[in-house]
Amino acid sequence: MSEPLAHSIVPDADSFHSHEVPNTMSSQALAGGVAGSAATDSGSGAVLPETELSPGDSPATPVVSERDRRFMALAQAAAEEARAAGEVPVGAVLVRGDEVIAKGFNHPIGAHDPSAHAEMAALRAAAQAVENYRLPGCELYVTLEPCLMCAGAIMHARIARVVFGARDPKTGACGSVVDAFANPQLNHHTTVTGGVLESECGAALKSFFAERRRASREARASARGEAGNESGNASGNEAGPAEAL
Ligand code: ZN
Repeated sequence: MSEPLAHSIVPDADSFHSHEVPNTMSSQALAGGVAGSAATDSGSGAVLPETELSPGDSPATPVVSERDRRFMALAQAAAEEARAAGEVPVGAVLVRGDEVIAKGFNHPIGAHDPSAHAEMAALRAAAQAVENYRLPGCELYVTLEPCLMCAGAIMHARIARVVFGARDPKTGACGSVVDAFANPQLNHHTTVTGGVLESECGAALKSFFAERRRASREARASARGEAGNESGNASGNEAGPAEAL
């Protein structure tokens, strides 16, 4: 069941090749019994390998597991697909056991769809793949802190764990603006781990917006140059790299 799904949902696996990782952890996680549990699991019995991988010795100093790094790297690769499409680069992968069953990238502009966030795309693809609107025992890795919309969808899907990279001080619903998952009346299913590869995930977003501002400045400068090309005020093009971030 799993192999055809993986191929159908992730047709362009080549895009992940730069983040290839050994398969050694796959057999470990599968041996833990996670992959086979989803078909009969109603949510209450989900056991995630992360609980065994967590160092646990010093909760004050969070240690990112190699497993979390590996899947977040795949989410980062998905984010680059968004960038290539001219969208804000946010990517997500949906993981069951140690298998990526779906991925998604942010594309609201191209889709004319305000709900086309990376998480929503991954959730939809995963639910289609397993033919179940509930995804108990699954983990969602996303490069940016989920918004309220995505937090709601994550809860409806009964996702067991959310792992995000950069924090979003404007719309983050995992503690930055609101903490939807901290409300026990709303959330019975989902644990949250934030800040995994935080600086790398944030850098991708910063570089995207910096590039967009630079292109906007150049377009304005070009328009000014065409409007009055005798002025020769070319220095304006180079004025602002320091303000890019
Ligand atoms: Zn969202």
